[in-house]
Amino acid sequence: MAERVYCPNCRELVETRMESRVETYPVKGEDVPVSATVRVCEGCGEDIFDERLDERTLVLAYEEYRKRKGLY
Ligand SMILES: [Zn+2]
Repeated sequence: MAERVYCPNCRELVETRMESRVETYPVKGEDVPVSATVRVCEGCGEDIFDERLDERTLVLAYEEYRKRKGLY
């Protein structure tokens, strides 16, 4: 399902796709690898910031951090 969002790079509404990739997020001074979902512009291929996706990634990073520390 394509959703048109504004791309600051293309300066117009563009088709986007979701991409999964491993990113590292700093949690309490530690780099935690997390499988992030990012929105990518079909026009220029640049990442487009998506607040909801970013929040979700952050939650996953904290979960991963707790797992690593055996805090479950
Ligand atoms: Zn673009």
